Amino acid sequence: MKLLRWLARRSGLDIRSPKYSYGVDPVLGFTSARKHAEHWVNSTCGYCSVGCGMQLGVKDGRVVSVRGNPHHPVNLGKLCPKGLAEHYAIEAEGRARYPLLRKNGRLVRVSWDEALDAMVGRFRAVQRKYGPESLGVISTGQLVTEEFYTLGKLVQLGLGTRNYDGNTTLCMSTAVAGYKRSFGSDGPPGAYEDLEHADVILLIGANVAENHPILCTRLEENKAKTLIVADPRVTKTAMMADIYLPVKPRSDLALINAMLRIVIDEELYDKEFVAAHTSGFEELRASLAPYTLDSAAQITGLETALICKTALLYANAKAAFIGWTMGVNHSTKGTETVNAINNLALLTRHIGRPGASPFSITGQCNAMGTREAGFTSAIPGYRKFESREDRKEIARLWNLSPECIPTRRGLAYPDIIEGAVAGKIRALWILGTNPLVSFPNIDVLKHALGNLDFLVVQDGFHPTPTTELADLVLPAAIWGEKEGTYTNSERRVSKVNAAVAPPGEARTDFDIFLALAGRLGCKDELFPGWREPRDAFDEWRRVSAGRLCDYSGMSYAELEASGSIQWPFPPGSRSRASATRRLYGDGHFATEDGRARLLPTQWVPFPEQPNAEFPLILNTGRTVEHWHTRTKTGGISILQRMSPRAWLEMNPQDAARLNLHAHDRVEVISARGRVSRVELRITGIVAPGQVFLPFHFVETNANQITQSAFDPISREPNYKQCAVRVERSPSSPVQPHRNSFRNHSAKGGSP
Ligand code: SF4
Repeated sequence: MKLLRWLARRSGLDIRSPKYSYGVDPVLGFTSARKHAEHWVNSTCGYCSVGCGMQLGVKDGRVVSVRGNPHHPVNLGKLCPKGLAEHYAIEAEGRARYPLLRKNGRLVRVSWDEALDAMVGRFRAVQRKYGPESLGVISTGQLVTEEFYTLGKLVQLGLGTRNYDGNTTLCMSTAVAGYKRSFGSDGPPGAYEDLEHADVILLIGANVAENHPILCTRLEENKAKTLIVADPRVTKTAMMADIYLPVKPRSDLALINAMLRIVIDEELYDKEFVAAHTSGFEELRASLAPYTLDSAAQITGLETALICKTALLYANAKAAFIGWTMGVNHSTKGTETVNAINNLALLTRHIGRPGASPFSITGQCNAMGTREAGFTSAIPGYRKFESREDRKEIARLWNLSPECIPTRRGLAYPDIIEGAVAGKIRALWILGTNPLVSFPNIDVLKHALGNLDFLVVQDGFHPTPTTELADLVLPAAIWGEKEGTYTNSERRVSKVNAAVAPPGEARTDFDIFLALAGRLGCKDELFPGWREPRDAFDEWRRVSAGRLCDYSGMSYAELEASGSIQWPFPPGSRSRASATRRLYGDGHFATEDGRARLLPTQWVPFPEQPNAEFPLILNTGRTVEHWHTRTKTGGISILQRMSPRAWLEMNPQDAARLNLHAHDRVEVISARGRVSRVELRITGIVAPGQVFLPFHFVETNANQITQSAFDPISREPNYKQCAVRVERSPSSPVQPHRNSFRNHSAKGGSP
């Protein structure tokens, strides 16, 4: 505070003056006249899936500040560092302002008419020559639900390709696949308030303190809980635990199976619930034979007593919550691990009750929106491609012939990239994502993009490493510049509003989709009379009616008035909203027979084991200050100064063996490539034999060395473990890293 007062005096500001009473400036650390908003616009944070309500302060047509919405039930006015600085993204360097078309090897400014004509002309030419499915589309978890809904129809029915997926496959397709297999439908069953009601909370591979900080405040408020954290790394969340389980990398599935075996052997399961509401118990019991305490201890590295204690605490809890994120999802065994988690919750009936839930904490702000309303791995409304009834129903709702609706999903994201490598995908449209930083084993992706006849990138920022390779760049509005809804991890729908217009000639994604539909000649058939996002929302409400993700009782007016609403929300739900706070409370699941499925799963070692040449296991992850590939946060000076560059965490034993010292610059090398000149941090946060590298930084891109290994069910990449060696970098002057993101021509992208 003394420092702030000194800074204020130097700046000639009286920070006690009422005129500085609005908006804390996260750059200066205190309020300033420049930040004195004339009015505030309610909206929702555009970063993570926690879904904090916020207010954007507007002055002279600019967003000058943000503050947490004190009335929003998710965050009650609190925001994390990213949220507090989010408005700076709107005016950050490198916003995409004009359509750019590659001519004679250079991207040159063109009109929207020329840009869209080129896009439609080239896509149609490729499809005529190579077939309709030679076109691929990869979107994001950053659009509003209205845009996902519109884009899905446009791609599948207007452009006529099924090869459409999102970057959400890189972070939570595993949770989707796991929920579908166990419960018959996607949809996290619980609510955030379960974190306050549970007496036992088990977090597996979930560093919420870093990645979902406002959820972490709920953990802190529950003083009665026992918090158990399973993670190979002593994360900030692990430091909060009552019981820390330092599992070996990718051994969580063996841990859960051993817990399941204890629960069954000790008869701690709810026999009545299992008999009435599940199927597959005997098959599950038989599959657990290999998971003795001794074998689980050997696989996980945990003491048998600790495994036993965890199982007994979980099974005997009044209400137990299991949360997970990328530590589970980013694996070739991710979907099976989610099924094992669901098995545990089902056997003990820790589901559908206050405090009791197997809960996937999603990544992006509106990953849930695309899961529900998108048209990628499912037909909107959690309908199945393979169900004749579902296809007939959606065709009726859309006034189309059922034959128009695809009977199976197209290629998932990694398979679209493989398709491009093989020459089967010849044109690609990428929206709001930056695979040149985020896709595993980046050289494969470069090969794929190099094979394309035409690449369109639609983004709020340019240049990014991905837009720089595009044949056509479409400038899109970002958070703060458009209207719609986001749905967070607890199925809570919140309104998103525009506070300012997009820069230059940038347009909202929704506008771009309708303009394309007009050029494709399908606007009147697919989007009759649509002019604004509300039109898409109204149709989506009708399409979701009667489904698990039922929005039909919601309206923009009600969302604005109440701040947010959880689905399912059919008409008349207001009076019984608490009854729909959790799914499956009645023991009826979304499977054909209404029973949840207990599914056998098998642990196997992760695909690339350490060896003599590459003796260390690399783990990748995030830091609180940055968002994915830093399109937004890399241009925000307060966040960039807090976390300006990547680092490599290494255990002191390994550092001593390699004769490395703190702050050395090192090379991290795998069978696929190397990351150069990373600053070394020597710390017991990582165990011997393991190293950790954050994945946000294009300059030291972790995906130069990650592998092309994917979950066979969800197609999510195995980002979390690969074999590497670490060497001191060849001696050369240490480069200044200050704000290196903006000094680098290939800046991080979205999201
Ligand atoms: Fe935004 Fe997530 Fe931070 Fe909340 S916790 S302010 S939603 S980034």
